[in-house]
Amino acid sequence: MARLGSGIEAGRLSPEEYASNFSDLHPRLDRHEALVAADRCYFCYDAPCMAACPTAIDIPLFIRQISTGNPLGSAKTIFDQNILGGMCARVCPTETLCEDVCVRNTAEDRPVEIGRLQRYATDIAMDAGRQFYARKPESGKTIAVVGAGPAGLAAAHRLALHGHSVTILEAREKPGGLNEYGIATYKAVDEFAQREVDYVTAIGGITFDYGKALGRDFSLSDLTGQYNAVFLGMGLAGVNGLGIEGENLLGVDDAVDFIAALRQTPDKGKIPIGRRVTVIGGGMTAIDAAIQAKLLGAEEVTICYRRGKASMNASAYEQDLATANGVIIRHWLAPKSVIERDGAVAGLEVAYTALGDDGRLVMTGETGMLATDQIFKAIGQSFSASGLGALQFERGKIVVDATGHTSIENVWAGGDCTGIGEDLTVAAVAQGRDAAESINRMFAAGARPATAVA
Ligand SMILES: Cc1cc2nc3c(=O)[nH]c(=O)nc-3n(C[C@H](O)[C@H](O)[C@H](O)COP(=O)(O)OP(=O)(O)OC[C@H]3O[C@@H](n4cnc5c(N)ncnc54)[C@H](O)[C@@H]3O)c2cc1C
Ligand code: SF4
Repeated sequence: MARLGSGIEAGRLSPEEYASNFSDLHPRLDRHEALVAADRCYFCYDAPCMAACPTAIDIPLFIRQISTGNPLGSAKTIFDQNILGGMCARVCPTETLCEDVCVRNTAEDRPVEIGRLQRYATDIAMDAGRQFYARKPESGKTIAVVGAGPAGLAAAHRLALHGHSVTILEAREKPGGLNEYGIATYKAVDEFAQREVDYVTAIGGITFDYGKALGRDFSLSDLTGQYNAVFLGMGLAGVNGLGIEGENLLGVDDAVDFIAALRQTPDKGKIPIGRRVTVIGGGMTAIDAAIQAKLLGAEEVTICYRRGKASMNASAYEQDLATANGVIIRHWLAPKSVIERDGAVAGLEVAYTALGDDGRLVMTGETGMLATDQIFKAIGQSFSASGLGALQFERGKIVVDATGHTSIENVWAGGDCTGIGEDLTVAAVAQGRDAAESINRMFAAGARPATAVA
């Protein structure tokens, strides 16, 4: 992401503008606001919001605890199910999960602000350094967790709670996975991802080994020979390519790399951005890259997506957020080639698309040109790791059963790298937690479970 094309410049805005643009999207509710928001909950006996939460947090209970002036009790209710409840409160697309099914989400009303209430309670507990869990006595069992993202951290915490010793092997130099390197800057400000890792690992029994990559520094069989169990939470480290002419020109970059650079640079004025930026893709990554390009001072930012609005993976809320920030979303356009001038990007040739009679995407034969000086690719990530021996894969992801158990006897997996991954932080947390419980049950039974089958 250090490459520069002709129209790409750093420092387009004043320091005040950067500070304002990258401030907290939804600041924490104050006490009065939280009480008012909590008061709107009907405490439904069959709470549909709870069923829609991948970690099954007891939402009516935690809201009730807020309304009775007990935010610490509320935080414990949240952490019992989701130890990364603080980050999930910031990044969960609640509009498609709990708040979507809230009984107050009607044409005349609006849903209870579950995400903001969750943040209110978890922030109070974390700011107070309040820990709720004590480890069980040392079990003597050791587990290797590969990857310090949400799945790995949730698994590590639950395993440590049961008294087991966990070593997290992480390829990067910092923990957090996409919480640290991927989430849009304005969703998690003030080093929250690192503070949360410290909070989660304060339970003890968890050690980190950074700069250690599976497939490069060790193999899966090294781990199974050394530890009683292994949890794989490597996410999707590879990024998909466009496969079009000009893809390697100066000014064509992966959106994930751009977002990671933004997250890691305290001075946003140092991040170069084009005057006219095009983002190719239709998911959360495309939206996050486009909004942040605009916030960095790009004059014109266009998302180019090859299908219609309804097919976009980004939620309607995310799409609205992008357009509210001045991003233009154009549908039914597929990238055809990158146009070059003096070795840098000058435009993107696009092909118009439509749905054929059989429902498949077809090219209409028409083409067009978008003038642009920077292009971000956001067309999905892919699994990329070697050294996995006989591990079973399907469609490029690790095959697991409902508990996260893989095709290899003492190996579990969870999060984006698995077939049950949903590309959501909260789903990765749920899968890491559930795999840890499955590993613990195996230890308790003194036997190893049968392996998963595709
Ligand atoms: C740009 C972007 C924005 C997103 N925004 C949101 C959002 O707003 N809300 C939301 O709910 N979800 C969002 N997601 C999805 C969410 O971040 C992921 O679903 C979630 O992080 C998956 O967690 P994970 O633990 O499976 O993987 P990751 O978070 O990817 O963590 C995997 C970890 O494993 C490490 N690793 C990888 N390979 C190896 C190896 N070979 N050896 C050792 N370590 C390795 C990585 O360095 C990383 O630390 C976003 C994703 C992206 C890409
Ligand atoms: S569905 Fe809405 S009103 Fe009912 S318990 Fe959940 S948050 Fe409260």
